[in-house]
Amino acid sequence: MSTIQQNLQDVRGRIDAAAVNCARAPEEVSLLAVSKTKPVAAIAEAIAAGQRAFGENYVQEGVDKIRHFAALPDGAGLEWHFIGPLQSNKSRLVAEHFDWCHTVDRLRIAQRLSDQRPAELPPLNVLIQINISDEQSKSGIELAQLPLLAQAVAALPRLTLRGVMAIPAPESDFPRQLAVFRQMAAAFQQLQQDYPQVDTLSMGMTDDMVAAIAAGSTLVRIGTAIFGARDYSQA
Ligand SMILES: *Cc1c(COP(=O)(O)O)cnc(C)c1O
Repeated sequence: MSTIQQNLQDVRGRIDAAAVNCARAPEEVSLLAVSKTKPVAAIAEAIAAGQRAFGENYVQEGVDKIRHFAALPDGAGLEWHFIGPLQSNKSRLVAEHFDWCHTVDRLRIAQRLSDQRPAELPPLNVLIQINISDEQSKSGIELAQLPLLAQAVAALPRLTLRGVMAIPAPESDFPRQLAVFRQMAAAFQQLQQDYPQVDTLSMGMTDDMVAAIAAGSTLVRIGTAIFGARDYSQA
């Protein structure tokens, strides 16, 4: 078995155990394999191991990979999630190539994505990014802004509002990780009451996935634990 296959199996095992530990069904938690900076060969290994959903942070790198796998017979059934910061001038590429965008944090970007989504594709699935704890970060809205932005996004014809996403500030203390994720879970549950199609709470990475699952995450975004450490020295 390859390292990536083994890692995927281990990560899935940890997700299942974390879910069972807090009396959740393991099927409630999906795994997004975050493949940013990793070569197509690594993604191909993950596909061979049964992984179908991949997350990319850089628009052009993501589009190149999507095109690569679209040309292959095993490209069918893959699901591509854009999870990086999105600039207006890159929105068209996201609208034309990805299945999901996790980082909608202003109406202007949402409007562009909706306008630019090709008619022959299903609506783009979007999550609203919440800046839940990282005051340094410029990405994401404050929780208090969620109802208004959600209302506007939900009204756009070529988007489907599926939920919320967060990248909390790094924190090694489990109870503190949990406290932040629980704020997200409360906002998610509130949103679900207003929008029946909302079903996705995207939170949890390699170092905090157990707390995220305990708080109610439905989609963990895992890079390092699957593909190994990233090397940015070539970038
Ligand atoms: C890179 C990244 C991840 C994966 O992080 P790991 O710690 O490698 O698991 C998840 N989500 C986002 C938004 C990222 O940018």
